[in-house]
Amino acid sequence: MEITDIPVEGYERVARCSDEATGLVAFIAVHDTTLGPALGGLRLLNYAAEDEALTDVLRLSKGMTYKSAVAETGLGGGKSVIVGDPAKKTPELFRAMGRFVHDFGGNYITAEDMNIKIEDLLHVREETPHVSGLSREHGGSGNPSPYTAYGCIVAMEAAAEYRWGTKDLSQKHVLLQGVGAVGGEMARLLRKRGARVTVCDIRQDAVDALVNDHGCESVSIDDHLDVECDIYGPGARGAGINDDTIPQISAEIICGCANNQLLDPSHGDVLREKGILYAPDYVVNAAGIINVSCERLEGGYDEEEAMRRIERIGPNLKAIFEIADRDGISTNVASQRLAEQRLADARQPS
Ligand code: NAD
Repeated sequence: MEITDIPVEGYERVARCSDEATGLVAFIAVHDTTLGPALGGLRLLNYAAEDEALTDVLRLSKGMTYKSAVAETGLGGGKSVIVGDPAKKTPELFRAMGRFVHDFGGNYITAEDMNIKIEDLLHVREETPHVSGLSREHGGSGNPSPYTAYGCIVAMEAAAEYRWGTKDLSQKHVLLQGVGAVGGEMARLLRKRGARVTVCDIRQDAVDALVNDHGCESVSIDDHLDVECDIYGPGARGAGINDDTIPQISAEIICGCANNQLLDPSHGDVLREKGILYAPDYVVNAAGIINVSCERLEGGYDEEEAMRRIERIGPNLKAIFEIADRDGISTNVASQRLAEQRLADARQPS
């Protein structure tokens, strides 16, 4: 196995690993550990070129630093990627990855991301203890989706309170695009709060279950932006907020679980000009990582403490909205400022 460090300005450590015996080619980036060890998922993708994988790991690890700083997880930002075919996974490949993770001496903690399953992480853990997000029976915090959904509702209530002076959603109409693991649970939680909920998804069975069992309404994907609603929650793929869609959005608040909702950061300014309150995606969907971070509590994972920490999403979001209004900037830039401020404060000698 050959591990080569790659100096990258602004990053604490970036390394490439190749292992002839198992075919592993991977990168790990530790962006920043000011607030704690760098935690971020492992992604497996058929990248066209290694440069593309390196760009991805750099971008994603930096994003994790900001996400964790705002979410107050006590963690830094890191990420790892394997360049490979998701159809050709082997236990040996993941054990080799485990040895690579171990080389970071606990400064990088891995977890699940695209094309990675818990079984794969169990092979990683044969070689290193620095693995998080395993199932409850393996001592981890389990499936993050219900926690992520709860955190999104906490965020929605905070945004509603900021915009309308009350977090009561019972008189509001929420439109959810994509009702999978997180969006589906959001729909159920919203119905419990008495909200009117309209859903769309490419999976008709997911839509039917919410309509039949939870009193949601449905709309086709093509027509969903024609629905008059108060809150719009993107919950499928990224880049859905763009020049084509923004003019069609009737909602006063955008608050959903999907990652990378803005096609470009400048769309945050467009939303601000249009008077739409955008709750930045990585702040809204942070409960997954908050939950995982509770695996590091003294005495092990504690669900009650996790729920308390997830509720901090509300005040954090309010702080972001206030910064945006005070400085006349988009909420996505405001959340970056909040993260940078927290990092700067932590770097100050006490
Ligand atoms: P999922 O795959 O369970 O759900 C996504 C749903 O979107 C599916 O039901 C799919 O059919 C639907 N969909 C796909 N394309 C669509 C389209 N064009 N229009 C409407 N629906 C479409 O995934 P998930 O775990 O619920 O995650 C949803 C989003 O939240 C993703 O962007 C994910 O990165 C993000 N996220 C999830 C978590 C988590 O804990 N699962 C944490 C943070 C962020």
